[in-house]
Amino acid sequence: RSSYRDASIAVVGMGVTGRSCARFLLSLGANVHAFDKHPIDANMLKAQLNMAPSSAPDTGFLGTYLLDEHSRLEEYDYVVLSPGVNPNHPAIAPIRYCANVLSDLDIFAQYNRVPCIGVTGSNGKSTVVDMLDKTLSAAGHKVLVGGNFGTGALDLLGQQADYIVLELSSFQLEITQALPLKVGCILNITEDHIDRHQSFANYTKAKQRIFAHSAKLVVNSGDAHTIPHDELSKVTCSVALNECELPHSLCANISAYRQDSQGIKRNDELLLASDELPLALEHLMMNMQFVLAIHECLALPLQPAVQSLIRYKGLAHRFEWIGNWRNIVAINDSKATNTGACIAALNCARRLNWRTILIAGGDAKGSDLSVLEPLMRQSVFAVIVFGKDAAKFLNLHDDVYQVASIEQAVALAFKLAFELEPNLGANDQQASAQAPALQTAILLSPACASIDMFANYQERGERFKQAVMRAAA
Ligand code: ADP
Repeated sequence: RSSYRDASIAVVGMGVTGRSCARFLLSLGANVHAFDKHPIDANMLKAQLNMAPSSAPDTGFLGTYLLDEHSRLEEYDYVVLSPGVNPNHPAIAPIRYCANVLSDLDIFAQYNRVPCIGVTGSNGKSTVVDMLDKTLSAAGHKVLVGGNFGTGALDLLGQQADYIVLELSSFQLEITQALPLKVGCILNITEDHIDRHQSFANYTKAKQRIFAHSAKLVVNSGDAHTIPHDELSKVTCSVALNECELPHSLCANISAYRQDSQGIKRNDELLLASDELPLALEHLMMNMQFVLAIHECLALPLQPAVQSLIRYKGLAHRFEWIGNWRNIVAINDSKATNTGACIAALNCARRLNWRTILIAGGDAKGSDLSVLEPLMRQSVFAVIVFGKDAAKFLNLHDDVYQVASIEQAVALAFKLAFELEPNLGANDQQASAQAPALQTAILLSPACASIDMFANYQERGERFKQAVMRAAA
């Protein structure tokens, strides 16, 4: 497929990705038909595609169409699917495995010449991509990052770079046929997006499509879902929480990264000491191991990356420290939109010996929340829930309070925390994030998506922060 010039192309789904596909294909001289399951205004879309409203059909833009069961997508030379569109849609299901049904990443791969690294997994993708951006840049490489997070892949084309780091979602991998990656990894797989994929097996299968695309693989030896059955020779490095859990025969030929109380090790050599990190959080150190292993796969030196990771400041809304007031600490983990991320946060809270008041709830996306129960019962003092699936938390702990808003949740959390810390006065906030005797944590880690009550997880996190600041004032 050297060119899409004059081809008749249906671009399905007119969100950010669909629009970037339409823009790119129009620039190549294709004839683009824009489909969406909601009616779209052609003039508004043209404005979003940077076209004049009066553009004649010879610009290649051939109108907007409603996607329904009668849409005859098989009549087009190519169909380009957006990740937000369900491939089980009746108009798409019959053609979804046809060679001319593509994703933006398929088109990106046909035009890209820069070495790519692909990162997928249920949790930690954005963090690992951000860490790679920082570590590779610090070592003097020109890096572009995008994909599922930030810039769409097609918008990265045409820029000079040494590496492109792509965050890849299950939705993207499900519809992508060919995406050559120098290194690929699945960080972990825990239940998510069951409403869309219909089963954990389908979700896992979508993620595992990264195996076929990658020349080298970094696997999580403690999570069998991240390890291929057939392409074991591609496995170059393994990452583990404790010991490498791969069969001994395989372990002998690969570099094994792991962590213990001393820090991150590669084949027993200490690379990064825990006490060099401001907060040695287990899941963050797993992410760091992946970053270092990916450097090794690229034949890059590890020490500059280690130095850069020591300085790494996390992304907002991911176990983000908001402040502490004497013995009360507030953590914004709004990006914990599934149970795996919430479990990671609760594990941190347990290791830090916090008395945790957990704020959770929202749209569980069909996931089974009972996996939270053991850790919640073991290490959470009280749970405050709100949102669409709040009721699903009620039996997971003896002290669950249901409220109507995040503001009410924060107010109640502080009330409970002040009852535990009766001597606290107002204006007791300490300047340092390293207060010595932390005890009670108010932890927003919802285990659910935010879209039932907020525009996105960012808005949920911002509202939490504002409510915390008000309650603590
Ligand atoms: P993603 O892009 O996969 O959603 P993020 O880096 O945005 O991942 O983090 C999402 C959530 O997962 C946050 O709550 C974060 O604290 C948590 N998290 C980050 N890394 C891991 C990990 N390795 N294992 C489990 N949870 C993690």
